[in-house]
Amino acid sequence: MAITVLILRIVSQVKWYSIEPVHLKIAGLSKRLRWELSNIWESLTPNFFLLKKTLFCYFNNMNPFFDIHFHVMTFKEPNLAAFLSSLDSSPASLLQGNITKDYILTLNGILKGQLFSQIENTLTAFSRPIDETFHMMEDDLKGKYRKSNNKGEYPSVPYIRDSKLYFRSQAYDTIILSPLLMDFSQTQSNIDKLYYSFPAFDKITPYALDTISAINKYYEDENSLFEFYPFIGINPIAHSYEFLVNHLSRFVDITHTMHPRHKLNDSERVFFGVKLYPPLGFDPWPQDSNELKKVRYLYSFCEKNRVPIITHCDDQGFKGINPLEAWKFTDPASWKTVLENYPKLIIDFAHVGRQYAVNSGSNIIENVHSRIKRLPQGEWFYTLMDMINEYDNVYSDISFTGCYKEFYIQFLNYLDSISLEKRKKIEDRILFGSDFSVNLLRVESYLNYYYIFDSSPLSDEFVHKIVSTNPMSFLGLKEKEEVKKKGMLSFFTKRLPNSNSSS
Ligand SMILES: [Zn+2]
Repeated sequence: MAITVLILRIVSQVKWYSIEPVHLKIAGLSKRLRWELSNIWESLTPNFFLLKKTLFCYFNNMNPFFDIHFHVMTFKEPNLAAFLSSLDSSPASLLQGNITKDYILTLNGILKGQLFSQIENTLTAFSRPIDETFHMMEDDLKGKYRKSNNKGEYPSVPYIRDSKLYFRSQAYDTIILSPLLMDFSQTQSNIDKLYYSFPAFDKITPYALDTISAINKYYEDENSLFEFYPFIGINPIAHSYEFLVNHLSRFVDITHTMHPRHKLNDSERVFFGVKLYPPLGFDPWPQDSNELKKVRYLYSFCEKNRVPIITHCDDQGFKGINPLEAWKFTDPASWKTVLENYPKLIIDFAHVGRQYAVNSGSNIIENVHSRIKRLPQGEWFYTLMDMINEYDNVYSDISFTGCYKEFYIQFLNYLDSISLEKRKKIEDRILFGSDFSVNLLRVESYLNYYYIFDSSPLSDEFVHKIVSTNPMSFLGLKEKEEVKKKGMLSFFTKRLPNSNSSS
């Protein structure tokens, strides 16, 4: 008995949560014994949730579910001035760039009076503290907000039940979300045009710190389920070279450590990747030599440290420059020079390159043809799929575009029309993302978005790849087998407490 107590004492001192659970998989224990053991643990510790989760992960192989693309921000963050100045362009480009059929301000929506409630719903989500938004999303997947008067379509049972997420044929024990931060810092030359002009200031650092403290606050609730792998925004043109260098080394995690929940308190290096947003003026390969030096540093940092990049890639969304210029920078073809120079760069082109304004372009006949055949429209999509075929590290996420039921049909039709070899590559590179809470301009809720994806004609196998296997490889998280091979040795060498701290 004394020995048992001693062992339990030691055990209770160990920071179990800092151990990468899959390392501790013990083979050969019967299911019954595993269950008994986990019950004993639960009753012995006040911190039982973490232990239960840890035990679950190492007795069962971890099966994570990812939403790789969503946004949390408060009213402090969006730069309304930049948005309004983007409206200061010709009426034609305004119409194409900001009010396009099928996108947010649909005529149908306006006529039915939905627009006001859509915007109100979106603003309600954006105006809450960030940590409360995380809880709101989690509660939504648990079915907390379902009412009889909901307009959207919903699953008959909530996706999160008994601390797991059930989706299609799988049960996921870990739910990983990547909030993407956008850098709304303005350039001095833009500000100088204003009557009330002030020195440009850094908007991304306070946003990053706000997000880190919100994540910490969310993690304080031990019953909360999400883990966060955030992406830090940077718009190099709005900052000095020195700022950029410092920003990346200050905030970006280059250790690719799993289960970030338990290391946040002692580090600011919690960002797993970098978010770029061309419509705010990010030129992927600028002519100006000073600007080129900055983006070259950014790409080489990411390539060397295997830090993934997510870049916005549809023709809509918030703009800080005029639409035509924004489209030039956003077009995946503009990124080919980048990939020729940095072929190992890992990039996710978001929204599968959807173009809402294609019908006003020159390829009207082609677009009519693809509409009849129910294929995706617009050149960007096809350029992007060819780039996935050509470069092993190019990915694409379905965020926002996944609001449209028709998208899934068009996408499957496209996959049916190409070679098996190319299809396989594409199927291994598509990622699930929601674009919450921007997507609330199109769907009723986070849960509604999941349901639209769930009820799509994509197969269970493909869905599992999109929500789990592909994001694992995009983020560079170690594959289960690889982790197992390294075994206990790497556990002792790599996972000692504070070995990853930023100091
Ligand atoms: Zn987005």
